[in-house]
Amino acid sequence: MRKRIAVIGGGIAGLAAAVRLRDLTPSGTEIVVFEGSPALGGKLHTGELGGRRVERGAESFLASGSDGAESAAVAFARRLGLGEALVHPAARPAALAIGGRLTPIPGGTLVGVPGDLSALDGVALPASGADVDRGRPLLAPGADVAVGELVRERYGDEVVDRLVDPMLGGVYAGRADRLSLRVTMPQLAATAETEHTLAGAVRAAQARSRRVPGRPVFAAVGDGMSRLVDAAASAAGARVVLGLPVRELSRTPAGRWKLIFGSAPSPGVDEVDAVVLAVPASPAARLLGDPAVGELAYASVALAAMALPAGATLPDLSGFLVPPGEGTLVKAATFFTTKWPHLAREPGPVVVRVSLGRAGEEDRLQLDDASLLAVARRELGELIGAELPAPVDSWVQRWGGGLPQYAPGHADRVARLRAGLPEGLALAGAAFDGVGIPACVASGERAADDVYRFLEGN
Ligand SMILES: Cc1cc2nc3c(=O)[nH]c(=O)nc-3n(C[C@H](O)[C@H](O)[C@H](O)COP(=O)(O)OP(=O)(O)OC[C@H]3O[C@@H](n4cnc5c(N)ncnc54)[C@H](O)[C@@H]3O)c2cc1C
Repeated sequence: MRKRIAVIGGGIAGLAAAVRLRDLTPSGTEIVVFEGSPALGGKLHTGELGGRRVERGAESFLASGSDGAESAAVAFARRLGLGEALVHPAARPAALAIGGRLTPIPGGTLVGVPGDLSALDGVALPASGADVDRGRPLLAPGADVAVGELVRERYGDEVVDRLVDPMLGGVYAGRADRLSLRVTMPQLAATAETEHTLAGAVRAAQARSRRVPGRPVFAAVGDGMSRLVDAAASAAGARVVLGLPVRELSRTPAGRWKLIFGSAPSPGVDEVDAVVLAVPASPAARLLGDPAVGELAYASVALAAMALPAGATLPDLSGFLVPPGEGTLVKAATFFTTKWPHLAREPGPVVVRVSLGRAGEEDRLQLDDASLLAVARRELGELIGAELPAPVDSWVQRWGGGLPQYAPGHADRVARLRAGLPEGLALAGAAFDGVGIPACVASGERAADDVYRFLEGN
């Protein structure tokens, strides 16, 4: 009989699952993507600013993993025929804002955790003598710890506050003291199981890395991330249901899945043979009837993008990160037209995108768009040491609860949750398997493999 599969959530994880299902399943299999918002893509959405394409969400992705192989996101883009559309950032340094001034980020760290404490260029003063061999590995097998807890104990507070926090914050908008080492730095968690010092563990992780020197670390789709979304939707050949969130998911007596979607007064009902659930933690918890799933915390951020008159001068950097202790609402800034050569080649305004807010700072984002833009412009000017010209165009994009904050033990909790799921239901996406686009693509593809194996066996 012709099988029907529902993918709930049309972000990149759900779309990667849908494409993989199309590739695996016999022709005639019906794939239905249910997306609760009016558009596919989730955190991937290309906008427009001053005549340029500027990302309103994720901007780029890792091009290769620590094993040196092409990342799942690059492989996915190639599968969609977008290999030629991939672009890479210019080799421009990024900076840290320390004491209100921009200073180069010390090289050779692992997400801010140094392997050589003598090479911090004065950015942070490490505690002396704490990273000693205590006759046992830093971490028991399979154990987890907050990144901040480990690094504070071994290197002292400044290394965490000035280096690790801003670097992790650049990705998670979260604090090192609350983020899981195992999820956010899996390579370091692995070497910490055998090494007796943090410096040794960092160096061992760096030595294991097979990243090819000179090969670009990041990639993006030249025409914008929305092109990846459109290409995925078209390759999946799925029926797409937009603007109607799935509200209930239950098992039928025959072992199929019943979905109730849309508004409560006039709900839609559908029945399928298998489900990939690729939504954030709160809707996942509701649909699974498991409140524990919804306990994953999220950070909210706002992006303020400004198009400055052509010729406006910005520092010759790809951008900068601001440690939380600096007290600014601005967490990071990206100088788009410096960072991306394909943008720099086209005539048009100078574009800077500022990221505001961190985990636990939701109150500080309670400003209207004009006030948020004014703060972004003022703080940016102070940090680069020059008043910014008035923007010719601007927007604010808010991502309320946009970034998951994986607490220590997250990976074990997800493994237990998966072990208790009925067959024919697979989980995917950033709520479970990591925030980066490659992790989300790989997670969607794994979920598709799981439901395909289940359907094959039935
Ligand atoms: C501002 C920002 C910048 C980022 N920058 C980068 C970056 O540069 N590089 C990088 O690798 N990562 C970046 N990320 C992270 C990355 O974009 C996300 O982790 C990833 O896109 C999440 O994909 P997803 O499919 O798991 O979830 P989502 O994109 O959240 O998609 C889930 C979808 O499910 C839908 N949904 C929710 N509930 C229901 C329901 N009940 N029924 C149906 N549909 C529902 C939602 O509307 C949404 O479209 C960034 C994230 C943010 C917020």
